[in-house]
This record gives sequence, structure tokens and C-alpha cells, in this order.
Amino acid sequence: MTAIYPGSFDPVTFGHIDIINRSAKIMDELIVGVLNNSNKISPLFSLEERIEMLKDVCAHLPNVRIELFSGLLVDFVNKMGAQAIIRGLRAVTDFETEFQMAQINKSLNDNAETLFMSTSPQFSYLSSSIVKEVAFLGGNVDSMIPDSVRFKLLGKIGRFGKVEKV
Ligand code: ADP
Repeated sequence: MTAIYPGSFDPVTFGHIDIINRSAKIMDELIVGVLNNSNKISPLFSLEERIEMLKDVCAHLPNVRIELFSGLLVDFVNKMGAQAIIRGLRAVTDFETEFQMAQINKSLNDNAETLFMSTSPQFSYLSSSIVKEVAFLGGNVDSMIPDSVRFKLLGKIGRFGKVEKV
């Protein structure tokens, strides 16, 4: 079975990587779909940067590929010939919106089944936004993102001149 794991990945965290690793074990093929959505609050990383970081951290997984998509997720599911959508759940607070999205997507494309994977407990607090916030404030993000992502994030923060030392 082919599944799509969609998200913004701005940037990819250990929480995302955990879901990718675990899904790749179950699925024949996993396509990480990086959302290009102009309606969303402007991301810190460009699409190219987000894709490059994901390719780097998924390089060891032969059945995982990274693709860009825009528009409806269910159209992307069809285009890729996928049958499932993977979403990660961190807490009950994620549940309501995720449940609503799963139902809307099912109503738009009856072939697209959403599968929820619960977070590994050590990543339940982790989100891309919290990583950016901690890094911007000069905190240590070593346990939240891989080194390759951290270097890019710190470079970005340096370039924007938000903090001198992180
Ligand atoms: P979106 O912009 O769609 O929220 P994200 O990049 O924030 O995309 O997340 C993509 C997916 O990864 C979502 O299903 C989200 O719930 C899941 N996810 C994010 N962080 C974690 C985590 N720490 N543990 C498990 N799942 C996570």
C-alpha cells in the first residue's frame, strides 16, 4: 500500500521523523507530501529548503520519497496512486481538527483512508513552531531536530539577526 504523509515540515522535527520511520515499516511506499499553501502563515523555510532537509533525513529509507503538493490533499492522493493518508496525533487537542479533516477528505475521495499514528511519548510536546520559538529565544533544540536541520535553523536565525548566540 502507498500512503501519503502530508504536512508543512517547517522544519522537520524528530516527531515527524518518528512517524516517517514507523509508517515506512508498515507501508510499501511512503510519500512525504510537502504542502505549498500560500494561504498559510508564511513559513520560515522555503519549499526547496524544507524538501532538501526532508530528503536528507529520509535518505536511509528506500521506500520513502519526498514530493511537493498544492491544492487538495485528496487530489494529490489520487495523483500519486495512494490509498492512505497518515497523520500523527500528539494529544487530544490534535484530535478534533484531525477528525474533521479525515471526514472531509473521506467525503471528497472515498478511496483516501486516513490512518492516525500516535506520537512516541518523548515527542508528544514537539512541533515545528515550538522548535522555532525555542531556537529564536536562544534555547537548546538538540533533542528536537537533527543536526543538519539545526544548522540550517540557526543559520536562518543568525541571518535574520534575531539572536546573536544560540
Ligand atoms: P500541518 O501543517 O499539517 O500541521 P505539520 O508539519 O505541523 O503539518 O505536521 C505534519 C503531521 O505530523 C501532522 O499529522 C502532525 O500531527 C504530525 N506531527 C507533528 N509533530 C508530531 C509529533 N511530535 N509526534 C507525532 N506527530 C507529529
